[in-house]
Amino acid sequence: MEQQNNNTQTPPRSNPYAGMFWVVLIVLFLNGLIFPRFSGRRIIETDYGTFISKVDSGLVERVMIEDGRIYFTARGEGDTTQTFQTGEIGDPQLVDRLLDARSPNPDGRIAFNRIVPRENSPVLNFVLMWVLPGLIFYLIWRQIGRGMQARMQGGGNFLSFGNSGARIYAESDVKTTFADVAGQDEAKETLTEIVNFLHDPSRYAEIGASLPKGALLVGPPGTGKTLIARAVAGEAKVPFFAISGSEFVQMFVGMGAAKVRDLFKQANEKAPCIIFIDEIDAVGKRRDGAYGGNDEREQTLNQLLTEMDGFDGRKGVVILAATNRPESLDKALLRPGRFDRRIQMELPDLEGRKAILGVHLRRVKHEEVDLGIVARATAGSSGAELANIVNEAALRAVRMGRKRVTTADLEESVETVIAGAQKKNKVIPASDKRLVACHEIGHALVAAMQSHSAPVHKITIIPRTSGALGYTMQVEDEEQVLQNRESLFNRIVTLTGGRSAEEVVYGTVTTGASNDIEQATRLARAMVTRFGMSDRYDMMALETVGNAYLGGDASSVCSAATAAEVDAEVLRLIREAHAKAREIISANPDIMRRATDCLVEKETITGDEFMEIVRECSGTQQSQQSQQSS
Ligand code: ADP
Ligand code: MG
Ligand code: ZN
Repeated sequence: MEQQNNNTQTPPRSNPYAGMFWVVLIVLFLNGLIFPRFSGRRIIETDYGTFISKVDSGLVERVMIEDGRIYFTARGEGDTTQTFQTGEIGDPQLVDRLLDARSPNPDGRIAFNRIVPRENSPVLNFVLMWVLPGLIFYLIWRQIGRGMQARMQGGGNFLSFGNSGARIYAESDVKTTFADVAGQDEAKETLTEIVNFLHDPSRYAEIGASLPKGALLVGPPGTGKTLIARAVAGEAKVPFFAISGSEFVQMFVGMGAAKVRDLFKQANEKAPCIIFIDEIDAVGKRRDGAYGGNDEREQTLNQLLTEMDGFDGRKGVVILAATNRPESLDKALLRPGRFDRRIQMELPDLEGRKAILGVHLRRVKHEEVDLGIVARATAGSSGAELANIVNEAALRAVRMGRKRVTTADLEESVETVIAGAQKKNKVIPASDKRLVACHEIGHALVAAMQSHSAPVHKITIIPRTSGALGYTMQVEDEEQVLQNRESLFNRIVTLTGGRSAEEVVYGTVTTGASNDIEQATRLARAMVTRFGMSDRYDMMALETVGNAYLGGDASSVCSAATAAEVDAEVLRLIREAHAKAREIISANPDIMRRATDCLVEKETITGDEFMEIVRECSGTQQSQQSQQSS
């Protein structure tokens, strides 16, 4: 009963409740057989003498003899009748007595008879004993079965494995298509071949070509790996068996490798179809015997490998898997004949981000929005983050009582995602507010005064839930693919600009720079240890990064002595940057003052407003200088 075909379920022939109806009827019928004739009335036990005296005094209406008992109804006080019973004692004169006796009946005689126990026919006996109970159980069982089927038919149907109860859900019509996946053109191109193959496996079989059995989708979280796998199923219009690695472990590990064999057998019957194992690193982790690896997991993995080798690639079963930790996968999984296609899903570039925002904006009502500006402000964001930004914008539009999303909503939600929501009612003392403004203007001014530095987009001193008291947002004009040493160094200088402003203007330092310090140090360290940007270490690798996609921690690969020297080198770099920032700020006191005044007053100023102030001030500075020199 488990293996129904996709859509070829025969409709139930009759009303599903008809079965129940019969069950009810049969129970009632049996009821009637079992209970005695006088059921419903209270029967009073009495002795034979009372019976005889009631007969003699003409009170009895009706007598019935059955199974050694005598049941009789007699007039009681008034006009009531009562039913009695008593034992039959084989009185030979009973019939004469009854014939002679008077009775309240209209004809004046007692109605009496003996009920002969009816011998059921053998056929009826058989039906009652065997067929009927069987029938009842069958009907009940069918009712339950129907209920379950109805529930399963909600979305698709289940594929079951043996009697373990382990089930994989097969979706037969996936609605996702490639149109829902923006950017990722290379991935789509590779997968299109698989789609074509699934459409018509025989065309490939004719030539003798067999397609890759498996493709591995690799990339950082949120780049659309799961999404694109669904899209392949949607495009190819084939059943889609999705299972996540951890489910796989839960379902199959400990059940014996036979279950994996079952999975492939069933999938083969459904071919063409797609099996998708999400987060495959949960099962496919490298096997390392040394430290007591997980035996069961390895067995399951082994079975998976064997099955992938064993099944016929021409039939049209394609296995997709996704992971963001490709380096942890067992090498055997990656060899040709298994997951030999590797599809890289990278973080989207500028065009990709525009396209992804476009895809998600299609689902919300919006005014004409400038996607370019939002896309530029979200460098390094994944598809999932962009989807989130669009949704936040829609929520904001609703909060503001608008019917459509605007560019401003999107910009604000970018900041919400980066820095947390605005904390409007946080009270900041006026003196602190001015200091925060001064700090932020410091960043902005240093950024503006350097070449190789992204333009300032926005400066704000509205506090955020992330704890930031203010921030300066820089947006690159165009996507940076490579970063050169100057631009990285200038980033460090910009990061030290806030603290430098505090020092130069206030002659003190505050805790406000802690995040700047962290970022500047990380950047400087990376320049020295990983990018080979210090003269001292040339192209020597001093650190390796654990996981490229999950932002794993870097681990040192140099001796302790070198590590100490590296620290010194990092410090030197930061010192240099800090000095440069201080110099820039000291040289422009006018801009610092005017821009800080402006920011304190408005709380948020745009990059253009800031640059206007910079231009005005340096204009007057230059004219003053030229007056002096002439
Ligand atoms: P992954 O599996 O790579 O971690 P998902 O496929 O689960 O990421 O993506 C999460 C969500 O992010 C998707 O449901 C989708 O809304 C959005 N998303 C990610 N990448 C894209 C993309 N290229 N185009 C459109 N939406 C995307
Ligand atoms: Mg995923
Ligand atoms: Zn700062």
